[in-house]
Amino acid sequence: MQLKLSEMLEVLRCSEIYNLFEDPDRIYVNSFVVDSRESKDGSVFFALKGRRVDGHNFVKDAYSKGAKVAVVERKIAEVGIVQLVVNSTIEALNNLAINVIRKKSTKIIGITGSNGKTTTKELIHHLLKKTLDRPVFKNPGNLNTEIGLPVSILNYYNFEDILVLEFGISKRGDMDRIIKNFKPDIGVFLNCGSAHLGNFKDEDEIFSEKSKMIKSIDNGAVVLYADDERFLKLSEDLKNLSIKFFGQKSGDVKLLSWKYTDDLSSTIAVIDVFGKLYSVILNGIWNRGQLLDLCAAICTIKILELNFNPDDLEDFKLLRNRFNVQKVDKIVLVDDTYNSSIESVKEALNTIKLLTASRKIAVIGSILEQGSKSIETHEKLGELINASDIEHVIVYSVFSDVKYSISTMKEKVVFESSVLDEVADKLIKFLRPGDLIYFKASRAVEMERVIERVWKSFSEQ
Ligand code: ADP
Repeated sequence: MQLKLSEMLEVLRCSEIYNLFEDPDRIYVNSFVVDSRESKDGSVFFALKGRRVDGHNFVKDAYSKGAKVAVVERKIAEVGIVQLVVNSTIEALNNLAINVIRKKSTKIIGITGSNGKTTTKELIHHLLKKTLDRPVFKNPGNLNTEIGLPVSILNYYNFEDILVLEFGISKRGDMDRIIKNFKPDIGVFLNCGSAHLGNFKDEDEIFSEKSKMIKSIDNGAVVLYADDERFLKLSEDLKNLSIKFFGQKSGDVKLLSWKYTDDLSSTIAVIDVFGKLYSVILNGIWNRGQLLDLCAAICTIKILELNFNPDDLEDFKLLRNRFNVQKVDKIVLVDDTYNSSIESVKEALNTIKLLTASRKIAVIGSILEQGSKSIETHEKLGELINASDIEHVIVYSVFSDVKYSISTMKEKVVFESSVLDEVADKLIKFLRPGDLIYFKASRAVEMERVIERVWKSFSEQ
């Protein structure tokens, strides 16, 4: 989005301005960054104070890369960039984004939950675009935080009237800060599990933090998961809101059954949408969690009084690395390397049980951000794999806490190493045509590098 500096000055209450020698009506900015390395000609660099680094140390770098304006909390001496001094750079970033979306009468659909936010966002966005036949805004990737949301709006918003936004939290207080700026009109609360447990007292505290998004809605609608008592209890406190439920056991939109085609090209699901049954043909293999995300997305478009047409999903493709099943070189590759949590492992293993293969192998890495619960989480991970039909496990211990899984799945472990090359070499020798291989770990493990190495070697053979 392009803005004039004068428009920025109207919104930001700057206490001081430095190095401004031109008419601000004539200065245009067109990109908004918080990482100086992403600065280019015409950028505005927001110097945020993080826990580890202070963006003020990078104003010079942003300027050298072409940034025109820096929003700062204190003057940076000897850097000739236009400097706007504000009380809080993070507030300035958010205020600017809010001001931009307020120019149009917008509706915000907010999505929260431990698993499936990005999938649901993509599904809602896809169905809305098809049904409304006009552009709908979504935050790109997983830019879903107090920083990511305003950055994505400032860079990509193009006056769409509906915004589909993920609300991601990883610690106490995160949701308060997001809803202070972005209050949804429709709130979708998918599920609540143990992701980021290390930053909270327990799962109840995670639930209450995520619930804040739902409770912030004064006069709109919410979509809640029906198969969990906590969500039913939450719904009792919601006055003046229209509430729709989705689930497998009950709900306004209910997942009844599903099966996979033998060639693994599609999933056929039967879904009850407000009493009407639909058979939905989907590209690829969807696990139960992803199908529940679809039910939540259908609930959302029904709240907007739009029609659900299963044909609209014909060209929808699941996201890469988030439980992606493909046949490559006669091996079934299940790429679930984007992130990990106990709940998403459970969904994946249940689906893997339904797929046929001569041997089933898992390569696992740590589930991070579990704090003092890390041992418990990894023992649980081992128990889940032990109870599944995975026969052999390779442990990629680049973060060592995954070793706690070994005690609960001992017999199945064929190899353990923290060295990428060693894990890849073992796999290259171990894999045979007809195998299914499941890769799963938290983002920071970068498990996708193992996949890349193994398949690069296969393609060179
Ligand atoms: P998020 O954006 O919340 O991190 P994603 O849509 O990126 O979620 O999916 C991350 C992982 O969670 C994938 O492994 C996916 O298969 C799994 N997943 C998706 N939806 C659900 C769900 N409703 N329940 C459990 N796991 C899910």
